[in-house]
Amino acid sequence: MRAAAALASLVLLGACPADDTMATPDAGPTDDSGSSGDGATCDRPSLDQPWLRSLVSGAVTSLAASPRATSSQRQATRTYLQNQLTQIGWTPMLHSYPSGANVYATIPATNGSTKRIIVGAHFDTVSNSPGANDNATGTAAVLAVARYLKDMPCRKANVTVVLFDEEEVGLFGARAFSASLSATDVLAVHTVDQIGWDSDNDKRFELELPTVALENEYRAAAQIVGVPVTMTSTQGTDHEAFREDGFPAIGLTEEYVGNDTSPYRHTSQDTASTVDVDYLVLGTKLVAQVVMTEL
Ligand SMILES: [Zn+2]
Repeated sequence: MRAAAALASLVLLGACPADDTMATPDAGPTDDSGSSGDGATCDRPSLDQPWLRSLVSGAVTSLAASPRATSSQRQATRTYLQNQLTQIGWTPMLHSYPSGANVYATIPATNGSTKRIIVGAHFDTVSNSPGANDNATGTAAVLAVARYLKDMPCRKANVTVVLFDEEEVGLFGARAFSASLSATDVLAVHTVDQIGWDSDNDKRFELELPTVALENEYRAAAQIVGVPVTMTSTQGTDHEAFREDGFPAIGLTEEYVGNDTSPYRHTSQDTASTVDVDYLVLGTKLVAQVVMTEL
């Protein structure tokens, strides 16, 4: 979060052996849950799911096994993310641009709509930080949204879940992805950055620069999830790139303005053990509830 001015990473570290060491969250499709079967019901899945906690905590642990800054580290991370999306049941794609590549999957509308909702988080880190809170937590939340949507039989819009590259060096991945979108089709953009720190235990989240409509959606969802929310005008992370292109965008984060934010950001101490998984689960539910309501 909040792009660093410079990233001197001329020395390529050894590639992190993603496929061998990264654990697999329990994210297998369970198409027999919810509303499958005889009736064509459009029931939304419950926010409480047996796979949720293990999916997000597993993703944070796996991602934070290595920094994700060098070219080889980021490539290993892309492989991991592609594997996770495949295991969840969606088809991962790469969106390449000159200095990097985003990983995404589009979950198709079930009514033929061309409208699109974007749910994204950056997967890269500054050099030498494992980036558990910043931003394995947001990445995990986006994977969980993809998993929720496996159990969502009726979808009024396409949902593109996207893990952005190179936020930390200047929102490069988000800017490239935003430039690839058709303006008339995008209903909303949600980006998640740092939702793993809550030392005062008030469960509060900050919503960065929502439109009025998005603010209302999040306030309603926050009541359902049971968390307080505060609006802020913080920029500097991925949602800014989409707002600059005219899309209705919001950023979800811990209390960055409220000063209850990880003291380990951009350091070697931003490890998985510092992540408040209960809080991460709540933030994940918040964005999932909003997206499922939009559908
Ligand atoms: Zn970040």
